[in-house]
Amino acid sequence: MPKKYDLHIHSVYSRDSSLKPKVILKLAKERGLDGIAVTDHNSIKGGVVTSKLNKDKDFEVIIGSEIKTKQCEVLGYYLQEEIKSKDLLEVLDKIKEQGGFSVIAHPFTIIPRLNLRYPLNEIKEKVDGLEAFNSRSVFPFENKRAFNAAEKYKLAMTGSSDSHSKIELGRAFTIFDGELRTAIAKRKTRAEGLIRYSKIGRLCTLHYKLFKFFY
Ligand SMILES: [Zn+2]
Ligand SMILES: [Zn+2]
Repeated sequence: MPKKYDLHIHSVYSRDSSLKPKVILKLAKERGLDGIAVTDHNSIKGGVVTSKLNKDKDFEVIIGSEIKTKQCEVLGYYLQEEIKSKDLLEVLDKIKEQGGFSVIAHPFTIIPRLNLRYPLNEIKEKVDGLEAFNSRSVFPFENKRAFNAAEKYKLAMTGSSDSHSKIELGRAFTIFDGELRTAIAKRKTRAEGLIRYSKIGRLCTLHYKLFKFFY
């Protein structure tokens, strides 16, 4: 049976997400996922807490982070330490040094403008994959471009919800056989999902930011 992982989830350790680690685990299992990566903004804390909470050997929690650099946002997976650098090339090196793998988050997104602003051709040997499906994309062509670029540069494809709220979790995922690391290294992953909830997700974030006190 192929496995399904949602590889981009924000927890309350990101200031714009309402998802508590306990809730993330519960929802991910309810929605049929075999694993997740918790990828908070510039922090591995949510991943560390969630992985400690997880007692299920058949469910994997990957400690990750979405690191904001001057050139784009990078997702780092299987991290052990915080990465403080803001330079894309340096961040890619630091992820590798820790034994992790890297994926450029939403490389062609235009709203908000958090796309890749660096020639992909020059980092294709350094980066492992592209987020070929991000559920928060407002326009389908953003994901289509990411998919095409991953094919062109022979990079792994990941799918993820980028969830910040309950409704979004598991709306997109990465499908693969065996171990995730191996599938990424061999470029044998697929990305699938829905963007139908992208606007609702953004509204939930706004609601959370305004009424944080009540959550
Ligand atoms: Zn992002
Ligand atoms: Zn994100």
